[in-house]
Amino acid sequence: MESISSNLAAVREQIAEACRKAGRSVDEVTLIAVSKTKSAAAVRKAWEAGQREFGESYVQEFLEKCEAPELSGLPVSWHFIGHLQSNKVRQIVDKVTMVHGIDKVSTAEELSKRAVQHGLNVDFLLEVNVSREGTKYGLGPDSVLQAAEECFALPNVRLRGLMTIASPDPDTARREFSELRETLDMIRNNAPEPAALSELSMGMSGDFEEAILEGATMIRIGTAIFGWR
Ligand SMILES: *Cc1c(COP(=O)(O)O)cnc(C)c1O
Repeated sequence: MESISSNLAAVREQIAEACRKAGRSVDEVTLIAVSKTKSAAAVRKAWEAGQREFGESYVQEFLEKCEAPELSGLPVSWHFIGHLQSNKVRQIVDKVTMVHGIDKVSTAEELSKRAVQHGLNVDFLLEVNVSREGTKYGLGPDSVLQAAEECFALPNVRLRGLMTIASPDPDTARREFSELRETLDMIRNNAPEPAALSELSMGMSGDFEEAILEGATMIRIGTAIFGWR
């Protein structure tokens, strides 16, 4: 636990280095600390070290953690990064800053419906399976354009960009990140509000430097901050 703040400092330094290499400003990259399977006390430690954005993957665990006494009253910004089933949307809709893992238009429709009920506006990303591995969630790169167009019309939700989990090999991952960026550019060309489509959620502990070089605006890092799960 003591190492969380030093891990965070090291990760931030690596992000800054990758940004220098990429000729980008560090302000363009948001670090999401992925706290799945880790305790609310661990989140609290990271919060005390200045971290504000956190990522969770499992609905039940997320609900318990965001109500935990260790975090009560703290302004924590939660990103739901796991695969989200339609029937779970209503449980998280009023607790999240952004939903990253939407891979069906029907889930976006449910998010919209629940956001309307709560009088909220919710930002979300479409998940793309760039590695085309059958075991992963995500829309195929060929179907994401169509899906995005259907999402533009939905009330009280705003498509902000794309999310992906890349292949384990860093060189392959880099090509996939580049493909995600190109896919977002294509979607932007057909979008009613192109400027809103600014987010590329890509890069994890093992590949965030490659992701930053390819234009990531949000990186999701768990292990390098909180240790092994
Ligand atoms: C767990 C998880 C991460 C963090 O992975 P690390 O390799 O621990 O950094 C990022 N994104 C998603 C979608 C995850 O499920």
